[in-house]
Amino acid sequence: MNLDPSHHRPWRRIDRRVSRKIRVGNVEVGGDAPITVQSMTNTLTADAEATIGQIRQLVEAGADIVRVSCPDVESTAAFSTIVKASKVPLVADIHFHYKRGIEAAEAGAACLRINPGNIGNAQRVKDVVQAARDNGCSMRIGVNAGSLERDLLEKYGEPCPDAMVESALFHARILQDLDFHEFKISVKASDVFMTVAAYQQLSEVIDCPIHLGVTEAGSLRTGAIKSAIGIGNLLWAGIGDTIRISLAADPVEEIKAGFDILKSMGLRHRGVNIIACPSCARQGYNVIKTVEALEERLAHISTPLSLSIIGCVVNGPGEALMTDIGFTGGGAGSGMVYIDGKPDHKMNNEHMLEHIVELVEAKAKSIDANQSVSALPQSGSAQRGPAIAAEASLAHVAAE
Ligand code: SF4
Repeated sequence: MNLDPSHHRPWRRIDRRVSRKIRVGNVEVGGDAPITVQSMTNTLTADAEATIGQIRQLVEAGADIVRVSCPDVESTAAFSTIVKASKVPLVADIHFHYKRGIEAAEAGAACLRINPGNIGNAQRVKDVVQAARDNGCSMRIGVNAGSLERDLLEKYGEPCPDAMVESALFHARILQDLDFHEFKISVKASDVFMTVAAYQQLSEVIDCPIHLGVTEAGSLRTGAIKSAIGIGNLLWAGIGDTIRISLAADPVEEIKAGFDILKSMGLRHRGVNIIACPSCARQGYNVIKTVEALEERLAHISTPLSLSIIGCVVNGPGEALMTDIGFTGGGAGSGMVYIDGKPDHKMNNEHMLEHIVELVEAKAKSIDANQSVSALPQSGSAQRGPAIAAEASLAHVAAE
């Protein structure tokens, strides 16, 4: 049996750009590693307790990596306490102050977000690279259209993709000249067009892993949409190894939005993917309220599975066919429950919410149990196909 859905669903196939792989602590970034989702704390880093609390929330939401600002010595002092309490690797965000970079590396940072060309003379750069090397710390070069070097702005007249890529390569060369290759790069702009063009160009001239983001994207809604367009476009082209959605919102929302983008593209799955209709006069129950309640009640589930919540038989049976569990509104205050794509039993609208929660929890348990006895990822319905497609796609990349 051919388990590769790209065999019969070629339109779902994404071939990832081949990059080399680096490590951010125990998390691999690049190569055939899954695309990771990261966010950044917005607490005062010197307040270790608050920062640890926020990191826990981010990890609960699924964060693979968390970045923490280290603007002053109080922050790097607190950083070692924070690192010890964190279940995921931490990236220390450093701007200009090379000593903060050394302190953060010594305090256990898994990665330094630092632009080596901005931290002063060659000796300082050497010292930071040595500290990174000694402490098993990788680096991220983070180019931002809003803070390009003056000479590049003079050369190009304004921030543009060419200037961003030139800046990235300038910083990369400094690390390469010191024989340090454990780095990834980002080239972010708040403008989606500039972001996409800069990443496209970058992906053609260097083989390091790429950290994707649209910077200062905006509020929860507009920022998520902007990011989905920019990051989605790049991921679709196979570009990007780790993502951060920048939102002027609770950082937990950044993780949720990141997974939603990856889920939509079949690149990675986490938690319940709820497929819902917008509802209309035909709905047999209140779809919108039900979906809101289910999102909240099912937020604790990390097992990838799909659930269709559809108002009536116009689209209900068809969507249910492709999901693990489905509910389709019917007449007389009840609807049909679908299991593994097949109509299974009727349920009163009144008790449907509790019932669906129980069914999803039980299904998640059974998927987890099956996966622990089988290494094959094929359990569940066709809607989870994209996860397999992505894995097949990675295998394709790895085989090249
Ligand atoms: S599935 Fe039914 S209730 Fe939902 S939008 Fe379509 S017609 Fe309306």
